Amino acid sequence: MTMLENVAKEQKPLIGKSMEDLEAFAQSLGQELFRGRQLFDWIYRKNVYNFSEMSDLPHSFREKLFGIPLHPLRMVNDHVSNSKQTQKFLFELESGEFIESVLMKDGKRVTVCLSTQVGCAVDCDFCATGKMGFIQNLTAGEIVDQFLQLQNIIKDKITNVVFMGMGEPFLNYENTMSAANLLHHPKGVNMGAWRITISTAGIIKKIKQFADDGHPFKLAVSLNGSNEKQRLITMPITKAQSFSELLEASQYYTFKSRKRVTFEYVLLAGVNDHRTDAEELKQILAPMNCKLNLIPYNEINGQYRRPTDTSINKFISSLNNAPFPVTVRWSKGQDIDAGCGQLATISDNHL
Ligand code: SAH
Ligand code: SF4
Repeated sequence: MTMLENVAKEQKPLIGKSMEDLEAFAQSLGQELFRGRQLFDWIYRKNVYNFSEMSDLPHSFREKLFGIPLHPLRMVNDHVSNSKQTQKFLFELESGEFIESVLMKDGKRVTVCLSTQVGCAVDCDFCATGKMGFIQNLTAGEIVDQFLQLQNIIKDKITNVVFMGMGEPFLNYENTMSAANLLHHPKGVNMGAWRITISTAGIIKKIKQFADDGHPFKLAVSLNGSNEKQRLITMPITKAQSFSELLEASQYYTFKSRKRVTFEYVLLAGVNDHRTDAEELKQILAPMNCKLNLIPYNEINGQYRRPTDTSINKFISSLNNAPFPVTVRWSKGQDIDAGCGQLATISDNHL
């Protein structure tokens, strides 16, 4: 093996590296710093993944780059839902584990739903990812590569990113934030911060850190219950992270960031979809700068059921006079298990 081949073999994939990382990388190959910035431009802004097409890099540099891996993920397959509006993609990680990402089209809006972990430790009773248990964190590169590979194969421009795929983003905080920063970087993908939403099951310390760090991205908190006792039934995390502290932390975020927080509320038949739940929500959320996003449950093979459309509509009308906006996410892609919380993968390692 030549020395060059050795360098290539030992290199971690370039996707996931920041501008500064790529500058240092270029320097390590005997190049000037700006060559790293050029690489950043090709990878994140131009979506070009072939070194021979990176025309403004000198031949001598390109030769050194050949063989260095770019993508940390391998796309395995994709499923298009019946409506053609939703597509689910399966990726393999270097570890041999698998993750899923979902692409959703709605008029001019094209949203990608990214995974941040393989499996999840939070163990919400209604969620397919939770049933897998926690397997591993994704690197920033593995998170960003989901976006880049999808953007590369579809014609439309991706307009929105939601961190609502597999895993709990705030239990992989550093990598998730590096990924979000890369997507937001003005010299790269340049996705507006208001088009990037991070959803958490409510890791209180991290909500506060997110607020203190001054991240510009949108925050969504999965409330899923109208009081402590009820939330505890479906979300055991409530034991360690109490309902009232979660509301306090969310409010802290709204004060610090001067932004609205979105509360997500999965509607589960007979569990949290009663009129009294709507009344409680109105009361507890009234003092907050917030929005409530109702998500009719997407069934997995478990004990929970989606309320009928009539009950869902009743619940919505009970919230008619709420002092905050209420929206409903009529999830797309349930026919291919690509709705919220329906993402789960199993690799040979765990069979
Ligand atoms: N771990 C993060 C983000 C991933 S889950 C979180 O929990 O917020 C994204 C959203 O999907 C959450 O609001 C979660 O409550 C919801 N969800 C999970 N399982 C679901 C299901 N089967 N049907 C509908 N929504 C679900
Ligand atoms: Fe994890 Fe979110 Fe699923 Fe809960 S809903 S198990 S936090 S992925």
